[in-house]
Amino acid sequence: METNIPKERLWSWEDLERTIYAHYQDPNLDLVRQAYDFAKTAHGEQRRYTGAPYLVHPIATAVRLAEMELPLNVIAAGLLHDVPEDTSATLEDVARVFGEDIANMVQGVTKLGKVKYRGIERYAENLRKMFLAMAEDVRVVFIKFADRLHNAETLYARPVQKRARIAEEVLQIYAPIASRLGMGDMKGRLEDAAFEYAEPGAYKEAKELLDKTVMLREGDLAKTIQEAKRLLESAGIHAIDVMGRKKFLYSFWRKLSRYHQDVNKIYDLVAIRIIVHDIADCYAVLGVLHAHWPPLKGRIKDYIAQPKPNGYQSLHTTVFDETCGIVEFQIRTKEMHDHAEYGIAAHWHYKANGDQKPRKTMPWIDELAHIQKEMAAGQDFLQRLEEVKLDMFQDRIFVLTPEGDVIDLPEGSTPIDFAYAIHTEIGNACVATKVNDQTVPLNTELKSGDMCTIITNKSRRHPNPEWLEFVKTSQARNKIRSATKSKVKQWIDNMMKK
Ligand code: MN
Repeated sequence: METNIPKERLWSWEDLERTIYAHYQDPNLDLVRQAYDFAKTAHGEQRRYTGAPYLVHPIATAVRLAEMELPLNVIAAGLLHDVPEDTSATLEDVARVFGEDIANMVQGVTKLGKVKYRGIERYAENLRKMFLAMAEDVRVVFIKFADRLHNAETLYARPVQKRARIAEEVLQIYAPIASRLGMGDMKGRLEDAAFEYAEPGAYKEAKELLDKTVMLREGDLAKTIQEAKRLLESAGIHAIDVMGRKKFLYSFWRKLSRYHQDVNKIYDLVAIRIIVHDIADCYAVLGVLHAHWPPLKGRIKDYIAQPKPNGYQSLHTTVFDETCGIVEFQIRTKEMHDHAEYGIAAHWHYKANGDQKPRKTMPWIDELAHIQKEMAAGQDFLQRLEEVKLDMFQDRIFVLTPEGDVIDLPEGSTPIDFAYAIHTEIGNACVATKVNDQTVPLNTELKSGDMCTIITNKSRRHPNPEWLEFVKTSQARNKIRSATKSKVKQWIDNMMKK
C-alpha cells in the first residue's frame, strides 16, 4: 500500500549557502558556487528516481558535509560527486576546472559507488573497499556517507524489492563503520532512515511509542531545561548550550528489546545536553546539578576520565526531578560534542586559513581492524569470514577491477600480478594495461586504490619470460614459468619435427 508518500525536500543553493554561513566563519563561497554551477550544468535536466531534479541530491550531500564543518573543497567535491559517472562531463573535466585534489576525491567516491551488500559472499570484499578508501583519503568516506544518507532518506521512492536490500546494506555496512569512526550523528541518521524498510513492523511500533513518550514529557522537559540554565547562571558557569535531545529511533528500539520492552526503564530516551567551555566546567556543572537534584545511584558515568572505545567523552548523570521524573544529563565541552557527533570528521573541521590537504591516516587501519573484530564477535555468520585477516593490511595493497572487485596483492605488485590473480588465461594473454584509465608499462608498481584494466589479445597464448624479472607474486611467477617451459618444449618439439 502506497499511502502518504512523503514529499522529497527540494534542496536548493540557498539551503547550502545558509548552512555554510551558520557553521563557518567568513567563508569564501567562490569555489563552492563554482562547483554548484558546474554540477548544475552537467546534470542539466536529469531527474532522480524520486522525480526531483537531480541537482537536489548533490546539494543535499553538500549540506550534510557543511553541517559536519568539513573544508570547503570537500563540499565542492560533494557537489561534483556524481558528475563523472552520471553526466557527459568527465573526471578530466573536473580535474581541469577544480584541480587534482578535488578530482581525486570525486574519483574515490565513484569507486566506492560500487560497494553493495550482496549477502555473505560479497560482505568481506565490500568492507575492504571501505577500508581501502579510508586508508587512501578518509574525506572520500565522509562524502560517501553524506551521499548514502540522502539516498537512504529517499528510499520510499525505490521499487519495493530494492528497498530492503539497500536498507540492509545501510545497516550492515555503513552504520557500523560510521559508529566505529565515532560519527554518532551519521550512524543514528543512517539507521533511522533504513529501519523503516529493514523492519517495517518494528519501525511502526517503535515510532509510535517514542513519539508518544516524548510528547508526554516535552513540557516538563522544557521546564527542567529552564531550571538547569538558572542553576548554572547563579553558580557563575557559562554554558555554550543547554538543549534537549531525543534518542534515535533505531537505537531506542534496540535498547528497548534489551530492557524487555519496558519503556520506563530507558532513562536516556530524552536527555538534556549541557555544552561548556572546558573540562573543569564539566565537573562543576555535575556538582551544581547534584546539589539541586539527587542523582540516581550507579548512574554517574565519567567518560571524560574513561572514554568509550570509539573516543566518546562526556559526563553522564541521571537525576530525579519532582515534575519531570527521571532525567539524564550529558555534560561535555564543545570539542567533545563535535567529536561525539562527527567522530573522525571533527578532526577535519574547516579552518579559515588551516591546511586543507589530505593527511595519511594509517592509524585508521587499526580502527577498522576493530570494526572487523566487533562485527565478527557480534554475528555468527561473520565468523565464517576467516579470510578477512586485517594483519595482512601491513604489506598488502588493494587494487580494483573495472567492475569494482577488490584484488589484494603484496606491495610492489604489477599489472601482471594483478592479471594472474584474476585468472591464468588473463595473465597469459595480457598485452597491455591501463591504470586509472592511463596506459602504463606492464612493470608499473600498483598502489592501493588503483583501478586496473588488463587488455588481452586472444592470439597471444604465452607470457613473456621477461616478466619474471618484475613480478611479485609466486602465483604469477609459477604460471609464467610453467607456460614458458611448455612453450620452449613446443619449440623444441617443432624443431625436432623439421
Ligand atoms: Mn550520489
